[in-house]
Amino acid sequence: MSERMLIGGDWLEGTGPALASINPADGSLNAEFSTATETEVDDAVAAAKESYYSGEWRALKPHQRADYLYAFCQTLLDRKEDIARLQMRENGKTITECRGQVDQAAGIVRYFAAVCETMEAEVTPPRGDYVSMVSYEPYGVVSLITPWNSPITLNAQKLAPALAAGNSVVLKPSEVTPGVGLAMGRICQDIGIPSGVVNVVSGTGADVGDRLVRHPDVRMVSFTGGTQSGRAIARAAGERLVPAALELGGKSPNLVFADCDLDKAAVGVASGIFGSHGQSCIAGSRLFVEASIRGEFIDKLAALAAAWRIGHPEDENAQMGPMASFQHRDRIAGYVTSAVDEGGEIISGGGAPDGPGFERGAYYLPTIVGGLHHGARACQEEIFGPVLCALPFTDEDDMVAQANDTVYGLACGIWTSDFAKAWRVCQRIEAGSVWINAYKQISISTPFGGMKESGIGREKGIDGVKLYTEPKAIYLAT
Ligand code: NAD
Repeated sequence: MSERMLIGGDWLEGTGPALASINPADGSLNAEFSTATETEVDDAVAAAKESYYSGEWRALKPHQRADYLYAFCQTLLDRKEDIARLQMRENGKTITECRGQVDQAAGIVRYFAAVCETMEAEVTPPRGDYVSMVSYEPYGVVSLITPWNSPITLNAQKLAPALAAGNSVVLKPSEVTPGVGLAMGRICQDIGIPSGVVNVVSGTGADVGDRLVRHPDVRMVSFTGGTQSGRAIARAAGERLVPAALELGGKSPNLVFADCDLDKAAVGVASGIFGSHGQSCIAGSRLFVEASIRGEFIDKLAALAAAWRIGHPEDENAQMGPMASFQHRDRIAGYVTSAVDEGGEIISGGGAPDGPGFERGAYYLPTIVGGLHHGARACQEEIFGPVLCALPFTDEDDMVAQANDTVYGLACGIWTSDFAKAWRVCQRIEAGSVWINAYKQISISTPFGGMKESGIGREKGIDGVKLYTEPKAIYLAT
């Protein structure tokens, strides 16, 4: 029997085709998941709408909603091992990373519980005989659509603020990782969030996701995923005039100047692209390294890449497991082939690892490609894997122009011991997050999002709950 979906407090079979979840470590079947058709999507939205207008959730005082979120946080921690293993089997991330993500997700939910009970309405300066104020109100039914790369944190990052604001939601996890989203739905049910407030439906983006954006009763969409899908969602949401918060792809540069701490920078650049298997929106996939240190720096990086510990995701010492699916691994390999075709030279990796068990999984080596011109496909398109394009630079202006010469604007790393230079370059870089002498530091208390085609809106931070609200101006005559 296939895994069921959560609709209106019931666990139901969908009438769509069953979805097979495949473990990318060895190709085995994890489970079959039942999927929705338009009928179940409509049922889920209707359940969310009914729960919203019943007031059972949105009319709770914020500190009462916060109590549920604290319980959500604690239950995530109580079920840490199960949820970590579920994600590990679905997307191949190492067990160590998956456990860390459950801790992060718990932190995210706890943060939004705290914001929920401390968030204030505003009294604005009156310009007449009235008291003027702003209250922040939930939208109503909100669709939450998430990708496969880090469902533990990304589902939590949407569920917690949307619920804190008082909305009722329909979550559609990626078709590659439906289990984690359903497990979170189970937690919401087990801690007593009223039926219908949280619904979880499975299925593909083209069918279930699209319907969730176009449904006339959905009042807001929050999406994390690829730029191409984001564009389709923005188009559909624009047609309906509903807001869409979009967290999209990236092609982020790491800028390494000759005056930096080379060892520290090499570790930062290597973790920035090989950490999380390179399947991270903020992966530092383009390296610009000052020409005078190119040889020395690339040697250090290549040594780190060669020593990167690849293993079965259950291996507690592994730094990298398989890619999330066989299809995705082949896509990554295709990009490396295209890089070679465009004149690239493989400095490290460039294929699957050798060794027992690797042939059964979707493994791919940490890869560094040099010798490319910046217009090459591998330098311009998001590969979403452990592939670094290394480019030398001599001139700061030219380097900044190339770093910004991308449709994306998600993140950037700057490595230098010259503070004034770091500051100057930081100001010129078009990216939603910039790290100076660090990479991939992420904090739930700091806004996150992309410039250009990397997204619209900001998640996280103290205003992360406001993303899921509409301000209402109220004038009280005196
Ligand atoms: P994807 O865009 O293929 O799918 C993401 C989700 O959207 C899935 O649930 C999918 O079913 C759904 N979907 C796809 N097309 C849709 C449509 N037209 N209407 C509604 N729903 C649709 O992305 P993916 O392959 O799952 O994830 C990888 C991408 O996600 C990468 O581009 C990565 O950079 C991006 N990402 C961004 C962030 C961020 O915060 N900026 C974080 C993680 C991942």
